[in-house]
Amino acid sequence: MELYEYTVHELVEKLEKGEITSKEITESYFNRIKQIDPKVKAYVSTLEESALEKAKKVDEDRKSGKAVSKFAGIPIGIKDNMCITGTKTTCSSKMLENFVAPYNATVIEKLNKEDLVYLGKLNMDEFAMGSSTEYSAFFPTHNPWNLDRVPGGSSGGSAAAVSAEIAPWALGSDTGGSIRQPASLCGVIGLKPTYGLVSRYGLVAYASSLDQIGPITKDVTDSAMLLNLIAGHDEKDSTSMDIEKKDYTLSLVNNVKGMKIGLPKEYIGEGINEEVKKSILEVAKKYEELGATVEECSLDTGKYATAAYYIVACAEASSNLGRFDGIRYGYRSEKFENLKDIYRNSRSEGFGQEVKRRIILGTYVLSSGYYDAYYKKAQKVRTVIKKSYDELFKKYDLLLTPTSPTTAFKIGEKSNNPLEMYLADICTVPVNIGGLPGMSIPCSLDSKGLPISFQLIGNAFEEEKIFRAAYTYEQNTNFRQNKPTFKGGNE
Ligand code: GLN
Repeated sequence: MELYEYTVHELVEKLEKGEITSKEITESYFNRIKQIDPKVKAYVSTLEESALEKAKKVDEDRKSGKAVSKFAGIPIGIKDNMCITGTKTTCSSKMLENFVAPYNATVIEKLNKEDLVYLGKLNMDEFAMGSSTEYSAFFPTHNPWNLDRVPGGSSGGSAAAVSAEIAPWALGSDTGGSIRQPASLCGVIGLKPTYGLVSRYGLVAYASSLDQIGPITKDVTDSAMLLNLIAGHDEKDSTSMDIEKKDYTLSLVNNVKGMKIGLPKEYIGEGINEEVKKSILEVAKKYEELGATVEECSLDTGKYATAAYYIVACAEASSNLGRFDGIRYGYRSEKFENLKDIYRNSRSEGFGQEVKRRIILGTYVLSSGYYDAYYKKAQKVRTVIKKSYDELFKKYDLLLTPTSPTTAFKIGEKSNNPLEMYLADICTVPVNIGGLPGMSIPCSLDSKGLPISFQLIGNAFEEEKIFRAAYTYEQNTNFRQNKPTFKGGNE
């Protein structure tokens, strides 16, 4: 078995036993990246030199008997909207193509403490706006299961990298589904933590009241370990919660007896592909066999979530992206005669079409006369949706839905139809609206050989229940025996 094939917890064990070195792991990844990434195109930039240097240092520390973190020397890939000092953070936008971060995001500070090794920065939809990674200003990423298809988005680079085994694990960000939906389409595990559990400091903001950083991993154990590393209060992020730190690996228990799972009927109905629906019902059956109670329930306010989401998200984006004006940050047009030209031309040339669409939409819903009709109404809908979740969680430990209404679609299939693209997130967006945690877990392959995944939604700050149920499912099934084959690739 090659080193890149192991999960992180397996690598950690081998490092601890002295069977392998960080240099060997890191080299194995860069060799693999050189071989595979020209086809998948998950990385916007790689950091080979600094990675090997760090690996070497960690190996020396370990050898000399210094106390090191058990994760010291483990490589990781980072979505290109999180700042690492001295490296480019582009958000896959021409606007930030040459932006070198002068500071670390809090999640990076936390990973630095454990001496993780950065493989590189991963591709995404520009400013995290999209569901396919086709809106990257640089190039689209390809789905490792079928290179003609999208990996999902916006964290498509992160999900494709873990799926193609060119990163053992990765960080993504999720505003309306951007961790879970690409994880689903690429057949890996993606967790969006509860809003406020992980610091957003140093994550380039898209929609601040919805954004959350989370792990994309090969299995549930790695997900719990990575969440352990990044969760926790941060005074630099006023929305981060000051709650007791938990060890999520304690929830990796192979037992769901007594758990109550709700199956909202609206998410196995209209708009959901038949094969996906069938798979979700099989997952429900499996949970019953394993001793949980699964009951159909209703989440009928979910149908308003996508509309409310696009109003709130665009409103916040229009404000957050105001700072990219050609003066304070980012790209500056060469064509200008006065200040107004600098603003107009820099923004016109620096932003892609989808980002501009959202800035215009967001500015519109916030403008006087429309604010009450759209923005305020959307905020009210948000409260209503949150209340329906509260009601459901009085009765259930978890909710079970598909992660995505379809499996991976073809590159180009939806990129010119914004509405179609927005509907790729109907199952994930309500969870962000409620500020809740959600995990995508792969369960089967469709008739085209593409991964189908289910989503477990938990109550706020109850990630433990998600881990327990996801782990139990994983231990009693065998999705991970399937691997992408890189048809047409150089495997
Ligand atoms: N696809 C959704 C959007 O375009 C979600 C993106 C995300 O979660 N960052 O806004």
